[in-house]
Parts: sequence; C-alpha cells; structure tokens
Amino acid sequence: MKFNKKLENIKTYEAGKPIELVVREFGIEPKDIVKLASNENPHGCSPKVQNAVGKIVANMALYPDDSMMKLKEGLCKRFEIAEKNLVIGSGSDQVIEFLMHAKADENSKILINSVTFAMYEIYAKHVGAEIIRTQSQEHNLEEFYELYKQENPDIIFLCTPNNPTGDAIDAEALMAFIQKIDEDTLVVVDGAYMEYGAFKDAKKKVTPKELIEKFSNVIYLGTFSKAYGLGGMRTGYGIADAKIIKELYKLRPPFNITTLSLEAASVALEDEEFVKYCIADCFEQMKRYEDFAKEQKIDIIESYTNFVTLCLNENQNSKDLADALLRRGMIVRDLSGYGLNAIRVTVGTLKQNDRFFVLASELMK
Ligand SMILES: *Cc1c(COP(=O)(O)O)cnc(C)c1O
Repeated sequence: MKFNKKLENIKTYEAGKPIELVVREFGIEPKDIVKLASNENPHGCSPKVQNAVGKIVANMALYPDDSMMKLKEGLCKRFEIAEKNLVIGSGSDQVIEFLMHAKADENSKILINSVTFAMYEIYAKHVGAEIIRTQSQEHNLEEFYELYKQENPDIIFLCTPNNPTGDAIDAEALMAFIQKIDEDTLVVVDGAYMEYGAFKDAKKKVTPKELIEKFSNVIYLGTFSKAYGLGGMRTGYGIADAKIIKELYKLRPPFNITTLSLEAASVALEDEEFVKYCIADCFEQMKRYEDFAKEQKIDIIESYTNFVTLCLNENQNSKDLADALLRRGMIVRDLSGYGLNAIRVTVGTLKQNDRFFVLASELMK
C-alpha cells in the first residue's frame, strides 16, 4: 500500500519508556522502577485535583464542555489575557500541530535550534516543510537572525527554557529579537518549562501578555504536563493575537480535551502554592546533581528546568549508560539521538535521586 510521501522520512517520536514496558521486558516490580525520563513532576499534582476529578467521574457519558469555560476563565485570569487570545490543546503538542498546519506547507521553511524539542521537526514534516537548524547548541539569537535573513522562514521556534538542554534565553534579548522579525513570520515561544525558568531567574521570565501586546506574530505555548504534574491529562495551551487563534480554531477537532482533563487543569491552576513548593524542591534537589557531576568529573548544563543534562566524557557512552540504568529499573533519557553523548535526567524526589546517584556512580566507575 502506498502512503503519504511526506511520512517517508519521519522517525517516530520516542517517548520516555513507560513503566509498564520495563515491568514486562525486565521483570522488575513497578515499585522498584523509577522514571526520570519525561520531565514529569515527581510530586504529582495538587491533592485538590485528585479530589475534584474523582467527583466528576460519574459524568463520563456526556461530551465535555467544548467552550472549556472554566479552564479558559482560569487561564485568562492567570495571564491577564482575553479569551479570544487563547486556544487549548490536547497537550501543547496539539497546539504545535495546529500552528504548523495553519502556517506552513511544502513550500515553507521552519527555523529551529540545533538541539531542541523533537516534535517541531516531526510536525514540520507532516506538512512537508523544510527544517533549518542553527549550529550552536544553545539558542544563539544572532545566529537565528542571520538564518532568518538568509532563509526567510515561515515559522521560528524558540524553546525557552530549552528541552533537552535546560538553558534559557533572557527575556529582554528575546523581545529585542522578535522586534526585528517581519510580521509575516510566526514566532513560537515554547514555555513548557517557563514556571521553572522564571522561578530560578526573573530575567528569564517571558510574560505572554507582554508578548501578545507587543507582537501580532507571536504565539506562546504552555502546558500542564510539567510543573502542574498533569502529564497524563494531556492539556496545554497557546496564547496569541486573536487573528492567529481564529485560524488555529479551524483545525481544532471538537471535544479535544476530556472532561477530566478540563477539571484537573482548572483546579491545578488554583493551587499555586503546591506548584511553588514542587519547583522550589526541584531546584533544591538539583544541587545534588551538580555535586554528583563534580564528583564524577562530568559536565552538567546549567538548567532552568526540572531536568538536568549530564554530558559524559569521551570514554563513556550515553546509550550504554542509559541501557544499563534501565535494566536496573532506572529510566532516563539517552540523548545520542540528538547528537549528544549525554543523558537527560528529570529531577525526582529525594529518594528517587538517591537511587539514581547510587546506580549511576556504580555504572560510571
Ligand atoms: C513537554 C513539552 C511540550 C509539550 O508537552 P504536552 O504534554 O504536549 O503539553 C512542549 N514543548 C516542550 C519543549 C516540552 O518539553
């Protein structure tokens, strides 16, 4: 059977290995498995969410509220924006998919960082667009600007803080960069880890309200999957000028968010204290990874997220290390597919991190 040609050279996205598969493949008990591979919040979500979601399970027969009123009101209040500036997706992933289809086709060019979130490229390939990458590992806005002038891309993705390296762009530099970009190029600011970046350093804090007040060609992406501890609920959002949102709505399938997800995200948004506690704890625990890197004499990239990137030495191999950890029930991310001899480890709870340090130092001897 012949399929869409555009799919020919797409490598399927490899998600962090689910616990269920490690149980089956290695016969390890679920309680002995630690997953530090997908940057989920190890503390889970606010206890208030579990309570609220439990209450509405009785109502599963009805389609969700497709106006998403409660969640939209919460997000509008949080970000001081209007409803016309907001779209909600099944994960911010889905918003990326919408914007790709809204703006790009087989004649388009998409400019991204050399090392960044893998889904930009996959969605670009869905529409047959060409990917242009910078050279530098960290976002270098001068290099972005040079390539922008040379290639005239339709979309520029800026992931700040960046996945899988953890570095972040200064908000001031980001604003100055967007100022120089023509109105017909869509600039995507992916803030999946912005809650962490803003907590660690106010200079990294990008505010969606300010972005969309200044620029009509920008979309800000946020998610409930990371700091809010709701990866399983698949809820994310995009904030942009109403003209952009209107186009994205043409691509949105009806009822793209489940009733449970809508409720969970709305309630999670109200419990800011919980999220703050989790983020503070994450950076406390991150210091231990910095000490670990020093002890092991390996490099660690300064991180503005809830994960660390450990860059191995030449005599070490990230794939072998990740595999060996996996056989012992510790799931981390090997970054060799990104061209890095590095592993990405989500900062876990104190106990989970203890386990990582014990296993990793044993294997790195
Ligand atoms: C996790 C992540 C997302 C999206 O996650 P969803 O679960 O789809 O909301 C988007 N961008 C980056 C950089 C991420 O790491």
